[in-house]
Amino acid sequence: RPAMPRPAATRVIVAANQKGGVGKTTSTVNIAAALVQLGQRVLVVDLDPQGNASTALNVEHLQGTPGTYELLVDGTPLADVVQPAPELPGLDVVPATIDLAGAEIELVSVVAREARLQRALQGHPRVGDAASAGEDRWDYVIVDCPPSLGLLTINALVAGAEVMIPIQAEYYALEGLGQLLKTVEMVRAHLNPALTVSSILITMYDARTRLAAGVAQEVREHFGDQVLRTYIPRSVRVSEAPSYGQTVMTYDPGSPGALSYLEAAREIARKGVRR
Ligand code: ADP
Ligand code: MG
Repeated sequence: RPAMPRPAATRVIVAANQKGGVGKTTSTVNIAAALVQLGQRVLVVDLDPQGNASTALNVEHLQGTPGTYELLVDGTPLADVVQPAPELPGLDVVPATIDLAGAEIELVSVVAREARLQRALQGHPRVGDAASAGEDRWDYVIVDCPPSLGLLTINALVAGAEVMIPIQAEYYALEGLGQLLKTVEMVRAHLNPALTVSSILITMYDARTRLAAGVAQEVREHFGDQVLRTYIPRSVRVSEAPSYGQTVMTYDPGSPGALSYLEAAREIARKGVRR
């Protein structure tokens, strides 16, 4: 595949939507895998105690495996909790174990509780620009958020510069988005002035239904150019890949789901650095 040019500095992208089942995890792992195919170096941070991104990327995440819990709550250095994704050279993962389920509460009494992830990333030698982080730098850090707007998601929003919001092309797609946008605005105002909503990704799009077209239209009216032109189709291949410890990018590279994620990743890469 033709490689995309690398960004000048690490781009931290947060996949967020407090609604569950909209495609945060699926989009995180497949866009990460697609970016790797496009010649980028990528770190995925699994911030969901369910550990679905860790499962899909086939990294160890049994209880007790060092991961995001240790990173955020204990302050374990990022370097000590990163694992390479076995199927995808160029992709690294900070796994989430079920221990993370307690983190929302445990973080409340931790110093600088909203900025734990930001500090961990900023202190790692592979995060930065060509001068500070060199050739080996991660081009993208993609953070997979849990379905809530608690301290885990806040940590992601403080650490990231760009929010990617997956929206499922279904009834009630826009419900709850106001609350998410308010949270983004609050974080921008008080904690992270660099934060922007950089991409809205329409997922599970069924081109045969008027409903999906209507939802996509409505999202576009609200968000304009922030909406990626590529829609991710609903496809069984996408949903069955994780049970093989794979992304659809390797499980069925020629399938419409894989090709759409590749195109979405290209769009994201073209958006360039927004710091
Ligand atoms: P979230 O992380 O927002 O909770 P997931 O990425 O886990 O959402 O997706 C929810 C469910 O929908 C999962 O079972 C997943 O396999 C399925 N899914 C996601 N995207 C697609 C798609 N494009 N086609 C079919 N199923 C999908
Ligand atoms: Mg998820």
